[in-house]
Amino acid sequence: MAGISDYDLSGQRALVTGSSSGIGAAVARALASAGARVVINYGGGRQRAEDVVSEIKSAGGEAIALQADVSQESSVQDMFRQMFEAWDGIDILVNNAGLQRDANLIDMSVEDWDKVIAVNLRGQFLCSREASRAFLKQGVDPERSAAAGKIICMSSVHEVIPWAGHSNYAASKGGVSLFMKSLAQELSPNRIRVNAIAPGAIRTPINREAWETPEAEARLLTLIPYGRVGEPEDIGKAAVWLASDASDYVTGATLFVDGGMTLFPGFADNG
Ligand code: NAD
Repeated sequence: MAGISDYDLSGQRALVTGSSSGIGAAVARALASAGARVVINYGGGRQRAEDVVSEIKSAGGEAIALQADVSQESSVQDMFRQMFEAWDGIDILVNNAGLQRDANLIDMSVEDWDKVIAVNLRGQFLCSREASRAFLKQGVDPERSAAAGKIICMSSVHEVIPWAGHSNYAASKGGVSLFMKSLAQELSPNRIRVNAIAPGAIRTPINREAWETPEAEARLLTLIPYGRVGEPEDIGKAAVWLASDASDYVTGATLFVDGGMTLFPGFADNG
């Protein structure tokens, strides 16, 4: 049976992309409160990243802010170099950075398509590659963790729920699903675990218009059997579990944290 120490991330080094806001910031805070040192990566807006660093430090944790555009190879490599200079390695990568550029198909520009795929999918590839190169060099240190490294990919319920008007986003998250499973298959023999979290509707800036008025929130709740909008902390707790040895036998899995959004709630009253 898992003891509470299985959730302890003391001595581990984590990088959370896009963690100056929303889900990423909550994941960073949760990993830090479980004992990990955390890189707060941000694309732009240094102050918000420094605010998350300060929050973590005032709660007794350790964090640094590093700028990088996750869709750019040299930028990602610079960020990992700086992290390794500071902390000499990495144990946990959370591929969280993501965005939407919504449009119906016939109005979608090539720029909208490319931007979403570049950040949501290429960004996960670039960061996973750098982290895995380091995991392989480091190997397993049983003092730290039973695994040589852990990767958590932020997916979405839209890896399985089609989403009209958001085909670029849904394609990127569908891509994340098989990217994650392929990495898990490839890297498991090296004791690198790769999993995903698929959030449902979580209260963050990315989907503000879906919850900011009572009418919008009521509409949203018709899609959520559990009867509440998710909070970023719901995802933080799931990330701690997937990063920790409590989930040591879990790889290639997508954990849906969605209040039942993927349970086809439209069928609850006989369809
Ligand atoms: P958010 O907008 O607060 O967070 C996204 C973060 O990614 C921001 O901090 C942003 O600055 C960063 N980012 C964007 N482009 C970047 C780049 N090129 N390089 C580095 N960072 C970049 O929204 P969120 O809801 O916290 O989203 C976090 C993740 O969760 C995303 O992958 C999103 O698709 C996923 N998600 C969110 C929800 C939800 O309901 N909020 C649901 C499912 C999935």
